Amino acid sequence: MMRVIIIGGGASGLMAAITAARGGAKVTILEHQNQVGKKILVTGNGRCNFTNTDQDLSHYHSENLLNMAMILKQYTCQDTIMFFKDLGIFSKNRNGYLYPHSDAASAVLEVLRMECEHLKVKIACQIEVESIVKCDGVFQVNTPGWTYEAEKVILATGSKAAPATGSDGSGYALAQSLGHTVIEPYPALVQLLSKDKCLNALAGLRVDARAILFADDRPVISNRGEVQLNANNISGIPVFQISADAAKALAAGKKCHVVLDFLPDFTEELLVNFMKQRISTGGYKSAVNFLTGLFSKKLSEILCERCKFSKKLIAEKFTEDDITNLCKQIKNFKIQTYGTNGFEHAQCCGGGVSLDEIDPFTMESLKVSGLHFCGELLDVHGDCGGYNLQWAWTSGYLAGKAVND
Ligand SMILES: Cc1cc2nc3c(=O)[nH]c(=O)nc-3n(C[C@H](O)[C@H](O)[C@H](O)COP(=O)(O)OP(=O)(O)OC[C@H]3O[C@@H](n4cnc5c(N)ncnc54)[C@H](O)[C@@H]3O)c2cc1C
Repeated sequence: MMRVIIIGGGASGLMAAITAARGGAKVTILEHQNQVGKKILVTGNGRCNFTNTDQDLSHYHSENLLNMAMILKQYTCQDTIMFFKDLGIFSKNRNGYLYPHSDAASAVLEVLRMECEHLKVKIACQIEVESIVKCDGVFQVNTPGWTYEAEKVILATGSKAAPATGSDGSGYALAQSLGHTVIEPYPALVQLLSKDKCLNALAGLRVDARAILFADDRPVISNRGEVQLNANNISGIPVFQISADAAKALAAGKKCHVVLDFLPDFTEELLVNFMKQRISTGGYKSAVNFLTGLFSKKLSEILCERCKFSKKLIAEKFTEDDITNLCKQIKNFKIQTYGTNGFEHAQCCGGGVSLDEIDPFTMESLKVSGLHFCGELLDVHGDCGGYNLQWAWTSGYLAGKAVND
């Protein structure tokens, strides 16, 4: 019987374990936390957005897009839905974002664990894998108390994101020790740091906006949704979606700022006309009160401050320039950013083990036969919305299937 050791019992490792055991292998998971799947429990704010029906490849990012696409095509979102349906997870579809019907991430972890138990997968926790060597066709997996042996090893140790859940980046060193190249990891899906003093006044605000990242004054990427403004950072899904590009641009020494468009459905011209109409009925109001009903008081005050409106100015006294200026501030609210929050706050990592050195059909190392990889340890990360877990399921499935071939 083929002995398989899976290092890391996260989403990808559990999927690999189930698939390998179903194929007949004798599977052991070595996990250094006191339980498997800690990160699964915190996904989707505790609800686990486990995949997404929109699988456009633009939601995934890697230095090797061709291999990434080949891998993703082999185990799709539909396969994931069927896999979890068979395990008992009836899914809830929110605009294409899939969750377990119970809205409990713990349910996803529980069914994976139940299936592992059913398939007699051995799960050994609080085991730190320190090194792996291959001697005479057999892997020796060294831990402080024991050396485990197996014909096949799957590295599923995750990235450096959210290390409190167990992914402390130790997998990169294991991969490097076996001759693999690691593309420098960086935090992705993370807050953008800013010292802009407007944030002190706006802290706590959540507002629908389009967030546009500029690097050296050139637009790079934009995303729309609920932006959260905090005392020293900006956050929320649209900021997360642009954060990986910000991290890369900042690392390349570029100056970055984010422009928030607080009324993305209006063109600037339409907004000017709209403001003029509002003046015809509400011209008696102070500049700040004139914005009541469009924005929160805090934001209205900051917009007027940036336009340098005096406290006494009433809307009917706005000049053409005042109106243009106000509309510009509403649609081009600039916030300088100097960095991203660290790995401990990130939902995933960009970079990782290069796909150039991995067979895209078996997830097997092109350097060491019998060594397979899966999950976020690899150089693939997805947008917010179920894409990172889909990558974990797909790559875990392919690695688990291949070890029996
Ligand atoms: C707050 C948060 C919310 C998220 N929400 C979502 C979401 O809703 N949808 C989505 O698609 N993605 C989400 N993600 C991302 C997603 O959870 C990850 O991409 C995915 O879990 C990665 O799976 P993995 O198996 O590669 O790694 P992990 O889940 O990190 O598992 C790696 C495992 O390996 C173990 N390990 C590491 N090194 C060693 C070692 N040396 N020896 C032994 N064991 C080791 C770790 O303890 C860990 O259990 C979220 C992430 C975070 C942090």
